[in-house]
Amino acid sequence: MNIHEYQAKELFAAYGVPVSKGVAVQSEGDFDDALSQFPENEMVVVKSQIHAGGRGKGTFTDGFQGGVKLAPNRAEAKEVAGKMLGNTLVTHQTGPVGRKVQTIYFTEAATIEHEYYLAILMDRETSMPVIIASTEGGVDIEQVAEATPEKITKVFVDPAIGLQPYHMREVAFGLGFSGQAFKDMVKALDGLYKFFWEKDTSMVEVNPLILTEEGNVIALDAKVGFDDNALFRHPDIVELRDMNEEDEKEIEASKFGLSYIALDGNIACLVNGAGLAMSTMDIIKHFGGDPANFLDVGGGAQVEQVTAAFKIILSDPNVEGILVNIFGGIMKCDTIAEGIIEAAKNVEITVPLVVRLEGTNVELGKKLLDESGLALTSADSLSDAAEKIVNLVKEA
Ligand code: GDP
Ligand code: MG
Repeated sequence: MNIHEYQAKELFAAYGVPVSKGVAVQSEGDFDDALSQFPENEMVVVKSQIHAGGRGKGTFTDGFQGGVKLAPNRAEAKEVAGKMLGNTLVTHQTGPVGRKVQTIYFTEAATIEHEYYLAILMDRETSMPVIIASTEGGVDIEQVAEATPEKITKVFVDPAIGLQPYHMREVAFGLGFSGQAFKDMVKALDGLYKFFWEKDTSMVEVNPLILTEEGNVIALDAKVGFDDNALFRHPDIVELRDMNEEDEKEIEASKFGLSYIALDGNIACLVNGAGLAMSTMDIIKHFGGDPANFLDVGGGAQVEQVTAAFKIILSDPNVEGILVNIFGGIMKCDTIAEGIIEAAKNVEITVPLVVRLEGTNVELGKKLLDESGLALTSADSLSDAAEKIVNLVKEA
């Protein structure tokens, strides 16, 4: 689960990580009230709140440039905010459809002496949290890693001992801090790590963390992701969930206990088992197709879950073909067949459908589908199925 920058910064502040003063607003009518908290003729930063980075360099679908803007005074901040709110922002992280901006965050403007990059995340290889820091802030860390990897400091924290002063000093030295700023940096990192650890986050990224001309250390941006498996321990965090930012289909799928992840392609997959779902996606790619989703209906799905899965798939306008790949073990092939038939009663299946059934009750499943009169293509093996659906979509 992800949260907005303004929410992350409120949490940062609670952990002693310095942030600029700011106010978040959801409606135009509240702009004046929010802005009255800022001096009239001083710079205000106007920040679109969406769950994606690269906002500053983003473009709105109506051509307006920049999802993060510095306004010289309150009046202009209000004007800029009016252009952003309700508008759709496209950044390199949103995909071409972009995201609708439903919250604006006004912050005091800081003077930037230097922009740094700071992140804490889980390193899968060592099973340890890793702190990633760089003197090259404000740009994508991937670019820095590629062009100038020597400018990145990585400090691994053994969870058995936790964050120690020497870890923090290594980071602050790595970034070239000295004097009071060094101490402030250490303090900020200490708070950030506590937050990362106590709230079961999977990633905390501050890009940029800045040193101001006055010598202060401030987290200017904040991107935070939480480990969904630990959310049950954090009801306060769950409350921060913004449904507007989540894929409607993914929300619907979670109500039915389905593992569904929307992707960019046009061939929908309905599969039982995560491993089989992964290999189904791979083999679609192998035959030159592009999966529209990952969907695992699980081992013990009932007819109503299969029906729901089908409806979710069909609600995606990008879907131009469907591949059902079931290896019946605990899951029975006739349950899948009934689910497909039930779904077809509710929603018209207007795209090619290829079904490959194997395993428990396969004969009964095939018989049900045959007798249903549904227009579908059956397949004998996984590669046969993938090849058929890729070709059918190409022909259509
Ligand atoms: P992102 O584009 O989504 O990563 O949004 P950021 O919050 O990182 O803002 C983008 C850029 O705007 C930053 O890298 C800064 O260069 C600039 N910016 C943001 N806030 C301030 C501020 O308070 N003062 C100044 N001078 N620049 C800012
Ligand atoms: Mg940023």
